[in-house]
Formats: sequence, C-alpha cells, structure tokens
Amino acid sequence: MVLTENNTMKITILGCGISGLSCGVKLQEAGFTDIRILSRTLPPHTTSDVAGGLWFPYKAEPIHRILGWSKVTFQEMIRLRGTSEAGITMTRFFQLLPHLASNDAWWSSAVEVYRPLSESDILSEFPQLPKGQFPSGFYAEVPIAEPHKHLPYLMKRFQERGGRIEVGEIERFEDIAGTSRLIVNCTGLEAKKLVGDAALFPIRGQIIVAKNTGISRSITIESASEHSEYATYTIARSEDVIMGGVAMTGNWETSIDEATVSGIIARCAHVEPELSAPIILQHKAGLRPGRTEIRLEMEQLSTTCAVIHNYGHGGSGYTVNWGCAEEVAALAQTLM
Ligand SMILES: Cc1cc2nc3c(=O)[nH]c(=O)nc-3n(C[C@H](O)[C@H](O)[C@H](O)COP(=O)(O)OP(=O)(O)OC[C@H]3O[C@@H](n4cnc5c(N)ncnc54)[C@H](O)[C@@H]3O)c2cc1C
Repeated sequence: MVLTENNTMKITILGCGISGLSCGVKLQEAGFTDIRILSRTLPPHTTSDVAGGLWFPYKAEPIHRILGWSKVTFQEMIRLRGTSEAGITMTRFFQLLPHLASNDAWWSSAVEVYRPLSESDILSEFPQLPKGQFPSGFYAEVPIAEPHKHLPYLMKRFQERGGRIEVGEIERFEDIAGTSRLIVNCTGLEAKKLVGDAALFPIRGQIIVAKNTGISRSITIESASEHSEYATYTIARSEDVIMGGVAMTGNWETSIDEATVSGIIARCAHVEPELSAPIILQHKAGLRPGRTEIRLEMEQLSTTCAVIHNYGHGGSGYTVNWGCAEEVAALAQTLM
C-alpha cells in the first residue's frame, strides 16, 4: 500500500474539470489529505469551461442513478449560493414540450419549486408563440454554476486545504500506480483513449455567449425527435446569456460552424425575442462526454492500487457532479 509519512493514503485525481475538482473537494471533506490533481489541461481549457453550467439532467444515463446524483448536486449548489465567489445563481427555468405531457418531469422530485405548464400558462409567459406549438411544459427554479467563476473557486478551495494541482498527462494508469494507492479517473471524453472505452462517444455542442441585457428566465425546448441534432436553449447568467445549441452525436469537430450560429440565433429568438440581435461576446464549441451510462465504479489495478472511474457525464456534468463525487468518496473510504 502506498502511504505517506503520516499514514494517509496517496490519491491522484486525473482531470481538472468539474468532475475532478468536485471529487477533490469531497475526498478532502471525507478526511483524505494527500491528494493531487494531475491534468493535461486546467481551467479555462477544459470541456467544463464550455458548458452553460445549468442544473438540468440532459443526455446522460442511467436515469435512476442520475436522479439521485442530481438531487445531491441540487442541494449542494443551493448551499453554495451563499458563497459569492462560487458563482452560483438561480434562474426561472421553462422546459417547453412539442406534445402534451402525460406525467410530471421525471426530475421534478429533485427540485424545490416546480409546476407543470399548460398551453395557456406557456402563452401567457411567451405571448409571441403560435398556438399549438408547445401544448405543455414544465417550470422549475434551478441553479446555474457559472464555469468561469465556479471552476477557479473549486481550484482555490481544494488548494487552500492542501490539495496540489499539477499539469501532466498520463498514457497508462501504470505510469502513476507506483506512487498512488488510489487513482480517480475524471478524464471525461479522453477516457476513451486512456482506458480504450468503446462506450464513450462525443456529443458535439456549440453555443453563443451573448451580453445579458436584462433576461432572467432560461428556456429549453424539447426536440420532437430524440435523434434531432438541434438543442435549443437559453441560459440567463449574471452577466451573459448562453444561446444554444446543437447535440451532434459522434461528431468530433470543435471549430465554430457559421451556419450553426445563425440557426441558433433564429431558434432562440423565436422563444426569446430580445435575442434576435444579440450582442455576441464569444462563440464556443465543445464535446460532451457521451456514454451509454456514466461510469462510476472501482477497479482493482493491482494489490497496491485501485482506480475509481468517474466519467461519461454527457450533457449533465454540472447536474450530477456533487452526487457523483460523494459516491467516489464513499468508495475511497472502503479502501481505508
Ligand atoms: C456546449 C456545451 C454545453 C454544456 N452545458 C451544460 C450545462 O448547462 N449543464 C451541465 O450539467 N452540463 C453541460 N455540459 C456538459 C458538461 O460540460 C460535461 O458533462 C462536463 O464538462 C464533463 O466534465 P469532466 O470534468 O468529466 O470532463 P472535462 O471537463 O472534459 O475534464 C477532463 C479533464 O481531464 C483531463 N485529462 C484527460 N485525459 C487526461 C490524461 N490522460 N491525463 C491527465 N489528464 C487528462 C483534461 O485535460 C481535463 O482537464 C455542456 C457541454 C457542452 C459541450
């Protein structure tokens, strides 16, 4: 077993996105002290920096585990609202459906303020929409973790408690197994290369960051087909509004596509007319780490080193991060 002088377990977390950082914080809270994050890139150069940061379960499986992780994450985000540097805000969130909903939203038990929307509720909130387009929907008040504030906040919190953050890339776990009792694999989509995981795939996203000129509500439109490449949404953050987007399964392209930009503006302006001529601050594109199921499990690499895998969070990295990190910490405690 790899122990330090004061008999604590040596832990290396691979990855410094939202998953690696929240695992670092939760492992510290669970009592582990000798922890380093080793990462090929650091914020602001991770997929987690591209995200809108909205709490909303999207493009991640399996739903029964997502619900539990999302509940834990929702509560932790609400607690963090009191810490201004954490960059957490609340938004009035509308999910508009192209059909009549027969049930409540499957995630409704995770939030505190929720109600189903009838077509007349939708038309009174969005009077410009044509009748019949969105016969139902859901309303909730949900948190947003603004990545450009939240990731630096988590890095600082982790380092202030003695955590180390190093830049480096490993090609095989064996490269660091001799110096770590535990490796936590939070490498996102890049786990495909690291562990040869055929179940991982990219879901390309592209967004516009526009100046927020007073918008306080956020909107998601559910596509009529789950295979649609369009993912129309707006996320009202403290200084900007995220306008999205696309969800292109199997597409590895990370450059900005101009036709997609005009499509996003047209689709967002349809539900939020103030965004018809947005003041564009930035364009971003990134690859969601899609997987048939989020991989969160422990694997014994050798008699002296275990790996906990925590990757494949799809479009929900900010929606499940604290729940997953708590489970990682609980698995780590079984090694003590
Ligand atoms: C356009 C877009 C919008 C999104 N919006 C939202 C949203 O509103 N809400 C939400 O919940 N989710 C959203 N997501 C999804 C979210 O961004 C991801 O689920 C999340 O970022 C995954 O985080 P991660 O920490 O697992 O991976 P990453 O952020 O990709 O971090 C992986 C880290 O591992 C490092 N690494 C990789 N390989 C190695 C190696 N071999 N050795 C060392 N280090 C390595 C990388 O350098 C990186 O630091 C969005 C995604 C996109 C693309």
